[in-house]
Amino acid sequence: METLKFADMKLSSEILQGIQSMGFEKASPIQSMTIPLILEGKDIIGQAQTGTGKTAAFGIPMIEKIDKSNKQIQGLILCPTRELAIQVAEELGRLLKFIPEVHVLPVYGGQPIEHQLKSLRSLRPQIIVGTPGRIYDHIDRKTIRLETVHMVVLDEADEMLNMGFRDAIEEILKFVKDEAQTVFFSATMPKAILHLTKTYQTNPEHVQVARQQMSAPLIEQFYLEVRNDQKIDALSRLLDLNHTKLSVVFCNTKRRVDDVVEHLERRGYLVGGLHGDLKQRDRDRVMGNFRKGTVEILVATDIAARGIDVDDIEAVYNLDLPYDEEDYVHRIGRTGRVGRKGKAFTFVVGREMNNLKRIGQFTNSKILPTKLPTVTDVEENKANQLVDKIKETIKAGGLERSISLIERIMVDETNSLDIAAALLKMLSEPKKRAKEAVEAPRDRVSDRPRSSTGNFSRGPSRDRDDRSGPPRRDDRGRDDRGPRRPSSEGFRRK
Ligand code: ADP
Ligand code: MG
Repeated sequence: METLKFADMKLSSEILQGIQSMGFEKASPIQSMTIPLILEGKDIIGQAQTGTGKTAAFGIPMIEKIDKSNKQIQGLILCPTRELAIQVAEELGRLLKFIPEVHVLPVYGGQPIEHQLKSLRSLRPQIIVGTPGRIYDHIDRKTIRLETVHMVVLDEADEMLNMGFRDAIEEILKFVKDEAQTVFFSATMPKAILHLTKTYQTNPEHVQVARQQMSAPLIEQFYLEVRNDQKIDALSRLLDLNHTKLSVVFCNTKRRVDDVVEHLERRGYLVGGLHGDLKQRDRDRVMGNFRKGTVEILVATDIAARGIDVDDIEAVYNLDLPYDEEDYVHRIGRTGRVGRKGKAFTFVVGREMNNLKRIGQFTNSKILPTKLPTVTDVEENKANQLVDKIKETIKAGGLERSISLIERIMVDETNSLDIAAALLKMLSEPKKRAKEAVEAPRDRVSDRPRSSTGNFSRGPSRDRDDRSGPPRRDDRGRDDRGPRRPSSEGFRRK
């Protein structure tokens, strides 16, 4: 579709400067369609995949509508996870670079509430970005008041509902005045969202980025038929062949993440695991290392990966076929973000082929068959990379010291061909062990019994990731996992 230029959107010069400094050239389709409508004051229900620029789609008009001279909370954004809340707040912070009077504060579970109270008092933010559980806590304590809020955003609404935040969201929305503008974003539109729309929105415009315009076509999608016990081997061959810098491997269970991390670690990859059982501290460390590149392969469950917003992920591997189409869309959306290219590989075992077909139809995308690379393919590819690197090094020059060293060896040793060959051999062998040495302490809970069989034939097991089962407390406090059921007391419509 025709996308708009930000300059044609009747935006203030301060925000245009902010957008400019972020390097955005033109608005993405969802931004082109929603920003003008939101500026007009319309309630919106927006549907678009991950990586389509939804944050700025609601962030830009929200910022435009903030009364700078007023220090009360005017905008509220609800996100499913702490990571996402932080990322949204950061993106808004960048947009606000030239509007110092407006402040944004992320408020999420897991962070000490006293700390948040201090920030709320000292920063006086006009925009709050938070996870539903913790926002509700603050409302309950009367430390956040929503009477002055005139715009509410639900970001990744489907995901928040999946995580069991429905009650918390509804309770929060009840505290917002009826006239407030509401903007709901969701990759999918399950019934529960339509219910929220009916109850809390006024004549909402349903804006949908058609599938063909979504970022999916930029992602090349492949599938491989394997046996369960071949998966890890197949994965490492693909990792070696593709030679990607950053990639994400998806598993269906937390257990499986631990297993895969262990296996890949043993094979010398720079790998980190991410799932709901890890302490927040560990999750932050893994993500930090992934951003820095000291972890190159992130192994994650669906929920844990929701907050991953790293732009240069080159490949996604679905080691386990996701259970539903939506997860597939979310997973592959981790690569190919806004205009970049990416590849997605999905392993299918036996009858799972039928599910894959369904996923292909749902996402309206071509998932092409590909063969497991042979060991020779991988070796050849590695050799080619090495040859390229050698050529580059020669071209770059500055080899004088090395040459004089070689000359010293050549005084009593063989010929230069032998020396070069020996160096090559040394270069390709101990590398993996060196990698292992720099790897950070293992990123996983260590007190759980782990299978040592090394095969993965458990099949779709019951310990599916975070979303199933009753909400429970974990070490991050009650938020991000499932809401606390609001007691009937304490919730009163004004
Ligand atoms: P979504 O919420 O739809 O998954 P994000 O809002 O997180 O997507 O945006 C994904 C990435 O694209 C971010 O790094 C963001 O800064 C960038 N981005 C957003 N809008 C644009 C744009 N108009 N041009 C270029 N990059 C953009
Ligand atoms: Mg988003």
